[in-house]
Amino acid sequence: MESDESGSRIRARTETLLVVDDDPKIHPLIEFHLDGVVERILHAESPVAGLQIARHTKPDVVLLDIDMPRMDGFELCRELKADEDTRDSQVLFLTGESQEHQIARALDSGAADYVTKPFNVVVLQARVRAALRTKRLVDLLRREARIDGLTGLPNRRAFEDALNQQWSQQQRKAENFATVVLDLDHFKSINDEYGHGVGDEVLRCVGTALQASQRAHEVWCRIGGEEFAALLRGVDSEHAVELVERMLAEIKKVQVRAGHGIVSVTASAGIANMSPESSTTEATRLLQIADDALYSAKTAGRACLVSVEVE
Ligand code: GH3
Ligand code: MG
Ligand code: MG
Repeated sequence: MESDESGSRIRARTETLLVVDDDPKIHPLIEFHLDGVVERILHAESPVAGLQIARHTKPDVVLLDIDMPRMDGFELCRELKADEDTRDSQVLFLTGESQEHQIARALDSGAADYVTKPFNVVVLQARVRAALRTKRLVDLLRREARIDGLTGLPNRRAFEDALNQQWSQQQRKAENFATVVLDLDHFKSINDEYGHGVGDEVLRCVGTALQASQRAHEVWCRIGGEEFAALLRGVDSEHAVELVERMLAEIKKVQVRAGHGIVSVTASAGIANMSPESSTTEATRLLQIADDALYSAKTAGRACLVSVEVE
């Protein structure tokens, strides 16, 4: 399982192992012995092809031969570890029995473990299973690091990554998109009046409302205490206003029981609209512009939004 680039949706993915070995006889053997241990096995007979496939498919485990022409296994392993897209792949080196002196070098180049050739089938299978377990844990930690614990929404880090990704896409695709910052109004007084626990429950309910109401092209995140942000992809400024007004209305509907009373909340929002004509050169500027618009919404009386075009 893995999250998409925003961390907001979880989807199943096929666990994959890539074998990189210049000896063609190794490939059918591995295919045979690992049947049922891993869901999908990919093959490369050169390091260059291996690197290309790894970058494209991000395999969970790479079985890597040491001696290969042009680029040896160590070099390929270092390349995999240096690239953010492939650094989590668990590398198992394939070593000949006479290459025991190479094992320390293999581990130092970033490998998780090694398997000796000719294979002991039971050990090969157990090492691949262990590598898959480690990879699942790494995936889990990466996911957790991008999710806000209270609301389950993507956190600030995930939002900034999504914004940067959108930014580089914008350079190529020249589509409209909007950056939104939304802040709950007078939230401190909810804490003061009803206690931090009720405040937390309000935040959780707002998170649930945002998540339940967001559409496919929206990514809502919690970027700070009572501050949320969103990327609205492929929408012009008119449409962005409609979408954010809808969210403000959804937040107004949130009701949290506190003693004998009911707590509700309003929010204010700032929208920075980016169009192909905008010439701003930094993604972080968008957040600043949306933040300034939010400030204007607060001074205008709260429970409203201010939308600005990015020049
Ligand atoms: P404004 O309308 O100007 O935004 O007023 P505000 O009271 O919402 O803003 P202010 O920045 O003064 O207060 C924010 C409050 O949010 C203060 C802080 O204690 C509270 N807060 C931040 N994070 C959390 C949290 O995780 N849980 C709870 N319960 N409160 C939080
Ligand atoms: Mg506030
Ligand atoms: Mg605030």
